[in-house]
Amino acid sequence: MRDLASIVATARELAAGPVRANAERTDALARWPEENLRALQAAGLAGLVVPAAHGGLGQGLVALAQVCEALGRECASTALSFGMHCVGAAVIASKATPHQARAYLEPIAAGTHLTTLALSEPGSGAHFYYPSVRLAAVDGGYRVSGAKTLVTSGARADSYVVSTVAAAPDAPPGHFSCVLVARDAPGVTWGPPWAGLGMRGNSSTSMELRDVALSTDELLGAEGDQIWFVFEVVAPYFLMAMSGTYLGLASAALDLARAHLERRTYQHSGASLAEVSVLQHRLGTLWAHVERTRRLVYWAAAEADARGPAALPALCSAKAEVAGCAVDVVNDAMTLCGGIAYRDDGPLARLLRDARAAHVMAPTTDLLRTWAGRALLGQPLLAP
Ligand SMILES: Cc1cc2nc3c(=O)[nH]c(=O)nc-3n(C[C@H](O)[C@H](O)[C@H](O)COP(=O)(O)OP(=O)(O)OC[C@H]3O[C@@H](n4cnc5c(N)ncnc54)[C@H](O)[C@@H]3O)c2cc1C
Repeated sequence: MRDLASIVATARELAAGPVRANAERTDALARWPEENLRALQAAGLAGLVVPAAHGGLGQGLVALAQVCEALGRECASTALSFGMHCVGAAVIASKATPHQARAYLEPIAAGTHLTTLALSEPGSGAHFYYPSVRLAAVDGGYRVSGAKTLVTSGARADSYVVSTVAAAPDAPPGHFSCVLVARDAPGVTWGPPWAGLGMRGNSSTSMELRDVALSTDELLGAEGDQIWFVFEVVAPYFLMAMSGTYLGLASAALDLARAHLERRTYQHSGASLAEVSVLQHRLGTLWAHVERTRRLVYWAAAEADARGPAALPALCSAKAEVAGCAVDVVNDAMTLCGGIAYRDDGPLARLLRDARAAHVMAPTTDLLRTWAGRALLGQPLLAP
């Protein structure tokens, strides 16, 4: 069994190797970072959160945040695609049947199967837990119809955790279930290639499902379990994958700002920007922002891994804080790096565009703040 330090060391090596080397091209060409994901699979990291009993590394939220932070420092699109794979793997693992362990978890751990989540829909937007994709029970299985939007690794991952609502007219309201759909299942079609402002490598494609036939083996948990999956598994794993990703991005921006202050000297005076006290002050402020956010993220992850009492407000607040930290730190780093950084359309410009997704990826910052408050008040998160 590999320990956490060796897992994170491997992630850092890959981040400093292929992930860094491919980052610019991934962004410029809006290209899904296949080589990076294959390298992560080949290095044995794809089963990060898969239980050891199924060949995985058996890790939890702290490990997921650390691996995503290492990747997010170099390429946020890679970190997001890998993170969503891990969230999908955690969902499958949480109530896996023997068939699902054999067909999904073992290949995921062996590095031959990538998965992801297809929850968001055009109709419910940020309220991703209210699906309208219909699940109709038929003889021997189900038929699934409807549309998903913004599916990370869309058309590239092998399988998709798809949320649905029962189609039967007599089903109780809110009878939501999750199923697994294969990329090439008959009836699945993919929308145009993703060309977002940022996160340009993550292939956030739309997915249409027309009467897709599934066997009962592809139902996750029991019918009606979707809300359980969303709050017990999707939310914690997603929030920590995204927190790690955007923490890495903020750290990368901080490093670029520091390097610029050290490097930049003026011809007329010979003075370095590193000697200007107001810039020293600003750099120190950015460092503190990143470090206090890092402390919150890893404390939240540890609290949730230990099922501690503050896990829910901590997880919600961590991702909300990281989103603010990433946007603010990249923005200020851009100012510290001057017109040169703005002109060059270089790494900081990419970080600036990538950072903007942090607030709007559901659960969004505004919803997370509300959920944290409701958790502290002992109220149900989905209260009207
Ligand atoms: C790069 C990227 C990758 C993504 N990957 C995936 C993926 O892999 N799988 C997936 O399922 N989805 C994914 N999504 C979708 C994402 O998680 C969101 O569901 C989606 O972006 C919501 O967008 P919308 O335009 O419909 O927002 P809207 O629902 O229109 O919301 C707009 C704004 O209003 C705010 N708002 C709405 N209701 C409230 C309220 N009651 N209180 C306070 N504020 C509110 C929201 O917080 C948001 O800021 C991805 C999105 C992006 C940008």
